[in-house]
Amino acid sequence: MSYSKPKFKEKYDNFINGKFVAPLEGAYFDNTSPIDNTLIAKYPRSQKEDVELAVNAANAAKEAWGNTSATHRATLLNKVADIIEANLEEFALVETCDNGKPIRETLNADIPLCVDHWRYFAACIRAEEGSATELDEHTLSMNIKEPLGVVGQIIPWNFPLLMLSWKLPPALATGNCVILKPAEQTPSTATLLMEKIAAVFPPGVINVIHGFGPEAGKPLASSSKIDKVAFTGETTTGQLIMQYASKNLNPVTMELGGKSPNIFFNSVMDEDDAFLDKAVEGAVMFAFNAGEVCTCPSRILVQEDIYDKFMERVIARTKAIVQDNPYDVNTMLGAQASNDQYEKIQSYFKIGKEEGAKVLAGGAAAKLTGEFANGFYIEPTLLEGHNKMRVFQEEIFGPVACVTKFKDEAEALEIANDTLYGLGAGVWTRDAHQLYQIPRAIKAGRVWVNCYHTYPAHAPFGGYKKSGFGRENHLMMMNHYRQTKNMLISYDKNKQGFF
Ligand code: NAD
Repeated sequence: MSYSKPKFKEKYDNFINGKFVAPLEGAYFDNTSPIDNTLIAKYPRSQKEDVELAVNAANAAKEAWGNTSATHRATLLNKVADIIEANLEEFALVETCDNGKPIRETLNADIPLCVDHWRYFAACIRAEEGSATELDEHTLSMNIKEPLGVVGQIIPWNFPLLMLSWKLPPALATGNCVILKPAEQTPSTATLLMEKIAAVFPPGVINVIHGFGPEAGKPLASSSKIDKVAFTGETTTGQLIMQYASKNLNPVTMELGGKSPNIFFNSVMDEDDAFLDKAVEGAVMFAFNAGEVCTCPSRILVQEDIYDKFMERVIARTKAIVQDNPYDVNTMLGAQASNDQYEKIQSYFKIGKEEGAKVLAGGAAAKLTGEFANGFYIEPTLLEGHNKMRVFQEEIFGPVACVTKFKDEAEALEIANDTLYGLGAGVWTRDAHQLYQIPRAIKAGRVWVNCYHTYPAHAPFGGYKKSGFGRENHLMMMNHYRQTKNMLISYDKNKQGFF
């Protein structure tokens, strides 16, 4: 079954104070679909003044919104979840068109997960219990959680509506007003959502500003009228955002890049066990979302005594990936999100070859025909080499995995931890000792054991090392959006006795 390209208006606007508002300078940029390199629509090229408008709207709304009950906020979050769910196919199609990922992923993974994140935080905010402790027979210590106020959120293009759904629900559930800047490559689903939920929240509670990083993202992160910045994107951009926020002593959370190891121990190689098939699929997960995932398992480490037999299966499975029309439900691998990304990945093929990496599969741009001939497609690629190569160390962000072998547990860990990053990792084994001890020794915020690429709302997610700090998902995220007021209440009739 195949869908067709969704319909768009000619141009869209920012969403500020409950209304769609044209950019003050009147400039728009072209947003194109990476599937066929055709125009989708024009979006506002916002500047500092547009950001200021949104920041003022959020500030005007913050007191009333911060004082609403948890029950009320949860009801509105659930409404958003219902609206996304009722329009799941439309959101999935628009996401596919804007980002290039195949419809089977947007329909079955991205958009249903978005729904779940809105519902999860609606539930969390109501399930919380208060905290009051008796310090002595006369004194009560009470912790009150208050919203920070106004939050700036800046997100990337690889999971547009999902990144929005990781960011908005915990901030709103805890009583904050938000200005969100989607990535300029993928503004469409955020806009579609605002169209559908325009009347759900009071004006100013959610504001969406489109535009480029230095023009719209920088003034947002630098604003003295916000109280926090939540950022997801590249490590180098995260460093800039921290500098901007530091001028106002604003707290930040950082979800940054990765170069995740996926480790296969020899116990997976039992040909009579269905688990082997699962492990082979686990290795090929590098091609999920065209490799444009911060946790892409982009380094495959295989124990040397099973290397040849295991890799034979991985290569065959990689070559069997169906790369075709992203609107077709049978397509497994779509287009890269942009021409920049398409060119960057090919530049790494050149670097890998110059470094002496051996191409086991793919290694070039994929040529699709007909209406997709001008899209940005890359073959699923396996490069064999060693961990000191740049292709093993730098984030390529494409359907590319670098493969190497290891002798024993110590060597597997040495290679796994030998990068700047520490976001995700995979461990595949039937050995009970390894399935606990190896993840414990890996320096990463999320280690999947005998599975990969699952992102439940109730499991905390975030990075070690240069992959960032702070956690998203899970109810612990709510504390990144609030401050604690401690009230010490004395019931003692006697004076304190100093004066
Ligand atoms: P990016 O850093 O280029 O852009 C991210 C966002 O920041 C965009 O909205 C962009 O407009 C904005 N931006 C860029 N420069 C800015 C500036 N100077 N000031 C303010 N804002 C600015 O990242 P990207 O290329 O969109 O996304 C890919 C990166 O995101 C990868 O490194 C990936 O690993 C990372 N990522 C991390 C996670 C995670 O949870 N850790 C999740 C998804 C993506």
